[in-house]
Amino acid sequence: MDSLRELMATEETLDPADWADVQALSHRIVDDAIGHLRDVRERPVWREMPAEVRAFFSAPLPHEPSLIADVYGEVARNVMAYPMGNIHPRFWSWYMGSSNFTGALGDFLAAIQGSNLGGGNHAAGLMDSQVVDWLKEMVGFPASASGTLVSGGSMANIIGLTVARNAKAGVDVRESGVGAIPKPLRFYASDQVHSCHRKAMEVLGLGNRALRRIPTDAALRIDVDALKRAIAEDREAGFKPACVIGTAGTVNTGALDDLRSLAALAAEEDMWFHVDGCIAALIAIAPQNASLVAGIEQAHSIALDPHKWLHVPFEAGCALVRDASAHRNAFAVTPEYLESTPRGLASGQWLHDFGLQTSRGFRALKIWMALKEHGVEKFGRLIDQNIAQARYLASLIEAEPALELTVPTTINIVCFRHRVEGASEEQLKAFNTELMLRLQEEGIAALSDTTIHGRHCLRVAITNHRTRRDDLDLLVRETLRIGREVEVAGLI
Ligand SMILES: *Cc1c(COP(=O)(O)O)cnc(C)c1O
Repeated sequence: MDSLRELMATEETLDPADWADVQALSHRIVDDAIGHLRDVRERPVWREMPAEVRAFFSAPLPHEPSLIADVYGEVARNVMAYPMGNIHPRFWSWYMGSSNFTGALGDFLAAIQGSNLGGGNHAAGLMDSQVVDWLKEMVGFPASASGTLVSGGSMANIIGLTVARNAKAGVDVRESGVGAIPKPLRFYASDQVHSCHRKAMEVLGLGNRALRRIPTDAALRIDVDALKRAIAEDREAGFKPACVIGTAGTVNTGALDDLRSLAALAAEEDMWFHVDGCIAALIAIAPQNASLVAGIEQAHSIALDPHKWLHVPFEAGCALVRDASAHRNAFAVTPEYLESTPRGLASGQWLHDFGLQTSRGFRALKIWMALKEHGVEKFGRLIDQNIAQARYLASLIEAEPALELTVPTTINIVCFRHRVEGASEEQLKAFNTELMLRLQEEGIAALSDTTIHGRHCLRVAITNHRTRRDDLDLLVRETLRIGREVEVAGLI
């Protein structure tokens, strides 16, 4: 008995010994967090980490405890002070959203509740399904469709393409594997398709070569006639054309494939129609531009990305599948330890039946709270605003003799470059890369670059609810200034 009592006395927990202490520190963290967001515009977009900060991350595994206030101090100094910068109003690199405070509160509360969204009968599970229903409604999918929140667009595409493969394989792929597929499957997408589709084809066991890249027209949209010819050619050669992937908003330039034509073609050819809408699916909620994604509602599956144009803090992607049973049939497995009961905690939907994860985080709350606070119409207007800003920037560039647009601006991505009299393509690339790096290193703006049909360019992707037109004026001004400096320095 005594020894049992002794044992009890040494029982430990991760809960704080003094809640009042933690409360005070937490208030300070919230105050700092609000200051961090409120003053983001005053800070550089990005800055290089000094050597001592880099060295901080080589510290060994801690064995002994530290005070939480000290731990927070280290985080504030070494982590919070050196962000990627994507919440800054002048961050326009690659393609990502700019987060929001309400979403951050949602993430915090989700962690406090700590629920596992693998399934079960509890409120978070119902909210997860509700958010999926809201996303279905945003893109015009029927209420009977299904969906799942995942880590991001790449996972959402893998989910959609897995359902497509299984639905079109002609055998029970889950049981027999891809080796049993009678005719090799072929998937099709434009040559602008996102790299995650290549990874998807690889992990699906179909291989990269089973994804045929179809040439694009001058506006970087898939050439539908070339696609038809490729399908006919493959049928002739003994392949089974299984799936057309349409891109709503390519990552290079924001080009939108003609989704209605692709839907019609897929129907004619008895193929699955998947839309990678990570960038532009949500244009469906933007009143001035919604018609750009007409036809998306006809897809069999859609990948979309709330952590882009809904500005959800990372991570949040979503896969939607029109045929809910095809979706469930691609993933559901019910081992005895996860069987449902008629009542109680295990009587809810098993949400893990719709994807690859078993344990799932409560991603829905951060999406739900911001949607409730602002209403979907505001998110639609913000999308229109970014598209209008991109057109504004394009007009500024067109008005500057030293700058040129390299492709037409369709939505919120502007591709341009600084001209250099008599320079070769290679020299132009070196010059513009130097410009891009100086803009980053001086903390002015974060852009990225790409090469489209052999021409290198700088790329401004405005998925940012903090960007204002004067930020774009500044970008043009500073680009011209740095351009002159680079020219004077004779760097090319
Ligand atoms: C961003 C993006 C993806 C990948 O999404 P993640 O959320 O980064 O995983 C896929 N396709 C397109 C067109 C994208 O823009």
